[in-house]
Amino acid sequence: MANESKQRILLVEDEADLRNTLKLNLKEQGYKVSTAGNGFEGLEKAREKTPDLIILDLMLPGMDGLSLMRALRQDSDVPVLMLTARTSEMDKIVGLETGADDYLTKPFSLGELLARVRALLRRAERTTVRDVMTSGGITLDLVSRRAMAGDEPLNLSPKEFSLLAELMRHERAVLSRDLLLTRVWGYDYMGDTRTVDVHIRWLREKIEQDPSRPMLLQTVRGIGYRFDGSGTNDESE
Ligand code: CA
Repeated sequence: MANESKQRILLVEDEADLRNTLKLNLKEQGYKVSTAGNGFEGLEKAREKTPDLIILDLMLPGMDGLSLMRALRQDSDVPVLMLTARTSEMDKIVGLETGADDYLTKPFSLGELLARVRALLRRAERTTVRDVMTSGGITLDLVSRRAMAGDEPLNLSPKEFSLLAELMRHERAVLSRDLLLTRVWGYDYMGDTRTVDVHIRWLREKIEQDPSRPMLLQTVRGIGYRFDGSGTNDESE
């Protein structure tokens, strides 16, 4: 069903060999693929071709992958799979913080890349087509803006609802306070990121079994927050 109208992928990668190999293989899988060899061209094509998914190399000439992401995220929610040659944890977190949905460290296998691509496109399809999100026992109806915890209605303020929806929409991705502030409160909002912390605390009191040991709304120290409906928390607070 997904491939009936071809899904469009933009591949931004400066290594010509890798770019050509990936393009060939993605086309073989039935995707419509456009490519860019540097960051500026990548950003231009992302805006012009409105792809369903972007595969983005971190290290690019001109404008690097992170700068591209930041520019892109001002007006686009397109799923981004980040490719990085650097393996340190910091790079992974920075990649997610800027709003990448997933990442792969080079070298990776083709099978692994295709699996991630399929997963991201499926997830994006679900969130755009469906008006209801459910995870970790929490259900949000985005049309009526009603929230439930199990069978119990949740009484959320409009900002609490929007904040929770933003985190659930990007389940398991770490979203920074700045990003959440921008997405939920808007660019013009003059408050600071403590606003986010306060609303997270209120949300925890409403949705966590034990608000002092949050399982769903997890803090990622020094970075921000993530929603994890699996209810496991490896981070020590
Ligand atoms: Ca590169």
